[in-house]
Amino acid sequence: MTNARYALAKLAGRVPELGATRGTDRASITPEDVAAACAGLARGPYLIALAKYAHDWSGIAELERIIWLEVVDIAIRPPDGRPWRIPVGQEILRNLGRAAALEAIEEPLCDECSGRRVIFLPGGLVEDCEACAGTGRGRYGAVTLAASVGVSLPDWAHVWGPRYAIISKIPYNWLYTAVLHINQRLNDDG
Ligand SMILES: [Zn+2]
Repeated sequence: MTNARYALAKLAGRVPELGATRGTDRASITPEDVAAACAGLARGPYLIALAKYAHDWSGIAELERIIWLEVVDIAIRPPDGRPWRIPVGQEILRNLGRAAALEAIEEPLCDECSGRRVIFLPGGLVEDCEACAGTGRGRYGAVTLAASVGVSLPDWAHVWGPRYAIISKIPYNWLYTAVLHINQRLNDDG
């Protein structure tokens, strides 16, 4: 397991639970409640929360465009200061943004613990699942991501995977913002 993967797992686990401020009764929160509570959010957090928690995908094309623009900004001014070389005529940046948004929305279960957050060891011992940092949430695999972005597996491993790790923070940050906002609103109403 790479450090990048661990960092991403922690990132996923950072998004608070929907309805956390309302006690444990998450089942009572309807998609309509969530949609109403999203009012007032900025566009990116609004659209991703609507898709993830209210199952409303009507804004997905706009979400893709917004995240694409963010990815372009990062490509021009990346954290290490060295602008990315982008193959001409390919939609790599757009595809990276789309994959990151979908992954944050779907949050597949962790392969290692199947979402249980812990690993059962021989002798009745239990320990936190290291692969997902105890979040129970997994990531798309490199093969899936390379294919959906349209690059070779070696290119993914050496070039685009590390860049994707940077891009992945965008939708998670949006979700983080959105869930805090939604929980606040649900709490006000409850
Ligand atoms: Zn796990």
